[in-house]
This record gives sequence, C-alpha cells and structure tokens, in this order.
Amino acid sequence: KEAVAFKQVDKIFNNETIALSDFDLTVHEGEFVCFLGPSGCGKSTALRMVAGLGEPTNGEVEVFGHSPKELIQDTNDIAFVFQDANLLPWKTVLDNVLLPLRLRGGSKREQKKEAVRVLKMVGLADYLKAYPRQLSGGMKMRVSIARALAAKPKLLLMDEPFAALDEITRQTLQQELLDIWQKEKMTILFVTHNVFEAVLLSTRIAVMSARPGRLSSVIDIDIPFPRP
Ligand code: ADP
Ligand code: ADP
Repeated sequence: KEAVAFKQVDKIFNNETIALSDFDLTVHEGEFVCFLGPSGCGKSTALRMVAGLGEPTNGEVEVFGHSPKELIQDTNDIAFVFQDANLLPWKTVLDNVLLPLRLRGGSKREQKKEAVRVLKMVGLADYLKAYPRQLSGGMKMRVSIARALAAKPKLLLMDEPFAALDEITRQTLQQELLDIWQKEKMTILFVTHNVFEAVLLSTRIAVMSARPGRLSSVIDIDIPFPRP
C-alpha cells in the first residue's frame, strides 16, 4: 500500500528559488526511504511538505491517500523529528514525551504507561525525572525520538536527526532506529547528506541532484546488511 506519493511536485519560493522540480516518488508502507543529496537540493522542503508544512506550487503530495494537512489535524499518523531535538527545557523527560499523548486524550495512567514504554525502548528508563539540560546530545535525541513514537505514528519523518552527534553516538542511534523501525513496523522518510548513513539505514535511497529539487535516481538497497 502507498504511504507517501509525490506527484510531479514543483516548489518555488518567492517566485524565484526552485526548491523542487518535477519531483515524482512513491513510498510504500513499511519502507525506510532516505532522501540523499547536497545541501540546498530540496530535501527538507520535500519532507516538510509531507508533514503539511508548505504546499506544492504545482502537483500534489498525498499521505495514505489523504492531504497531509488533513492527517496532521485529524490523526496521529505522522510524527516529525528534527535535527535539533526541540525539547521543552522546563519540562522533565517524562513530561516532554507525555506532551503529544496529553493532546490525544485518554486515561492518564495509560498515557504514562505508553510514555515509559517508549522511553524504555530508547534506553532512558532511568531518566524520567531528568531535565533536558542534564542530558547529552545523544540522549536529547533519544527523548525526541521517544516523543515522536509515543503517538504511535504510521509515518515517521526525520530531518538529519543525527547530524549534530559524535560518530559513536550516531552509530548507536542508527542501530537503535533500525531496531525500532522493525519493531513498530513504521514507514520512515529520512533526510541526510551522508552517503554512508543512507546506505546503512534505508531500503531505498532517493538521490537528489545539486540542481535544486531534481530526483536524479532511486536506488534499491537489497544488500543483505545485518539489520537487527
Ligand atoms: P536541503 O534540505 O536539501 O538542504 P532545502 O529544502 O532546505 O534544502 O532548500 C532548498 C532550496 O530552497 C534552497 O535553495 C533554500 O534556500 C530554499 N528554501 C527553503 N526554504 C525556503 C523558504 N522558506 N523561503 C525561501 N527559500 C527557501
Ligand atoms: P535544513 O538544515 O533542514 O536543510 P534549513 O536550515 O535549510 O533546514 O532551513 C530551516 C528553515 O529555514 C526552514 O523552515 C526553511 O523553510 C527555512 N529556509 C531555508 N532556506 C531559506 C531561505 N533561503 N529563505 C527563507 N527561509 C529559508
């Protein structure tokens, strides 16, 4: 089944900057697709549109057959993780993760159970009461990922989530993410400019060209990498 479809999408900012041009791509449920390309080629613009942040100038973006804006308003199907973990500094780790759950409603006990479940999954069970400033960069990113997972999204969007981390932390989190992807059976769209990261993580790579917004090729990764 189709998770995300870009249908001949153009995105032009201020009538002059071409960020995407005739961008056509279909992502199926359960895939892990990386958008790979140099800075400025339109990766973030493409990802943001899937989250309903910005409309195509021409063409259409569909998520599970709906407009992204509809889905964002009416469901928890889409979650977004940015490069900067974006935690609220005055809230504890647990409260940061509870935030999207509170918006959804339901019993407080169930919400807490779910928040603790996802925090365990990212190895932060012992840090529920800690504040973001007490955590390393990698731990903050783990909280951010847990917060995204708490809403049980069907589609996880990640924009260079590991770019600011040191190499060892990055490798650890990459393995954890693969593990989570398999457990939670999500579709993931992941923006990176790092070739190794794209090859390690994805089932398919959408290579974008330095000429802004052109999809130059789509590569299937079927090398039997030891995925968890
Ligand atoms: P990437 O994520 O691959 O680095 P972006 O999608 O951020 O690329 O940007 C693609 C192009 O669109 C760049 O030239 C960028 O400057 C431009 N752009 C992105 N967002 C905006 C915006 N809100 N207003 C004007 N130009 C933008
Ligand atoms: P990324 O690092 O993910 O590529 P950027 O740093 O390019 O993201 O962009 C961050 C924010 O700034 C986005 O909201 C994007 O739309 C906006 N932006 C990017 N380029 C421009 C630009 N040339 N003019 C105005 N806004 C921009």
